[in-house]
Amino acid sequence: MSTKELIEQSSKYLCFTYNRYPIVFSRGKGCKLWDVDGKEYLDFVAGLAVCNLGHCHQNVVAAIREQAEKLIHVSNYYHNEPMIELAKLLCENSFAEKVFFCNSGAEGNEAAIKLARKYAKENLGAEKFEIITMQKSFHGRTMATITATGQERFHKGFEPLLEGFKYVPYNDLDAVKNAVSERTCAVMLEPVQGEGGVNVPSKEYIQGLRKLCDEKGILLILDEVQTGIGRTGKLFAYEHFGIEPDVMTLAKGLANGIPIGAMLTKDKFASAFVPGAHASTFGGNPLAASAAVAVLKTFKNEDILKNCNITSGYFINRLIELMKRFDFIRDVRGMGLLIGMELAFDAGDIVKRCMEDGILINYTNGNVLRFIPPLIVTKDEIDILISALDEIFIGIHKT
Ligand SMILES: *Cc1c(COP(=O)(O)O)cnc(C)c1O
Repeated sequence: MSTKELIEQSSKYLCFTYNRYPIVFSRGKGCKLWDVDGKEYLDFVAGLAVCNLGHCHQNVVAAIREQAEKLIHVSNYYHNEPMIELAKLLCENSFAEKVFFCNSGAEGNEAAIKLARKYAKENLGAEKFEIITMQKSFHGRTMATITATGQERFHKGFEPLLEGFKYVPYNDLDAVKNAVSERTCAVMLEPVQGEGGVNVPSKEYIQGLRKLCDEKGILLILDEVQTGIGRTGKLFAYEHFGIEPDVMTLAKGLANGIPIGAMLTKDKFASAFVPGAHASTFGGNPLAASAAVAVLKTFKNEDILKNCNITSGYFINRLIELMKRFDFIRDVRGMGLLIGMELAFDAGDIVKRCMEDGILINYTNGNVLRFIPPLIVTKDEIDILISALDEIFIGIHKT
């Protein structure tokens, strides 16, 4: 079928929940994608910070192949090997002592919200259920997670929302201090806001939140769905801040593209989840878990973080060079390979122009170009993007 026919059928049969670009992808390898017409694209989106090892990484492909031949699914009434191995690896490489598996970021956050409420009710007081979250946050699209999301545009049309959420400005410790009440059971935030415009908080802020939560005896929940699995240059972003959360959620990069989510926590809090309290049919599915095991082993064996950190510095410097030349570039910020470039105007056209040049980038919060390439991206590939942006920006400057 031609691209045109495929897109016609796409519109005919799929709910119109996305304004998709008119490309149909059929193949990927590393930082490259090819559409059904054979056109090649350099990918700085990585399936939205999912394919951190690049498309179709050989270790992930091999793990999926091998596992698919052996066992794809069993019920959580039983144990399975990849799920156990993955939970062990996650605990050995993080603050966590227990893991709950699910299938997406939103579900990971649902599990975190349910755990915080149940733990608080049983251990801190029956009236403790309120969760403080941040303005410009993003936590997912289920009813609880849109409520946790501090952006009205995600709420519209779906009211009434869940009770018990309070929003405060990001990176403002006093705002959280003032919002904490007798009813508060948790503070929940992204260690770097992704969808909200790539907002990096100060170390003092995150450390202050940790201290505040300890003093008040409430839970610190970090949504690392986007920042986790090496995206910021460490396996988990909390490591940059010298603190540990009580609960952390993961999803996007965890299995490099196979759907999976996870909620990680300490034994103390995990004790609130007893048999029957929470569940997921597909959670910890052997196929998904084996892909995630391959991802974590690859991070260890192939020094993915090292490349991320080297290219991050290079990438940010090259973007700052552009900022110095074009006055409509307001800011360059980020951590690892989660990088934003704030413009003085809507960034949608820049994304389209790059696409015509065969480069995929993304934008968020209206005017922030977001660069989230696979963590194996090279300096040469970054140079290709910079040259393309340079040319596009020169064109804008003239008009
Ligand atoms: C993408 C994202 C989510 C939602 O993940 P889904 O898998 O789409 O449900 C939640 N939190 C953050 C920080 C995200 O970036």
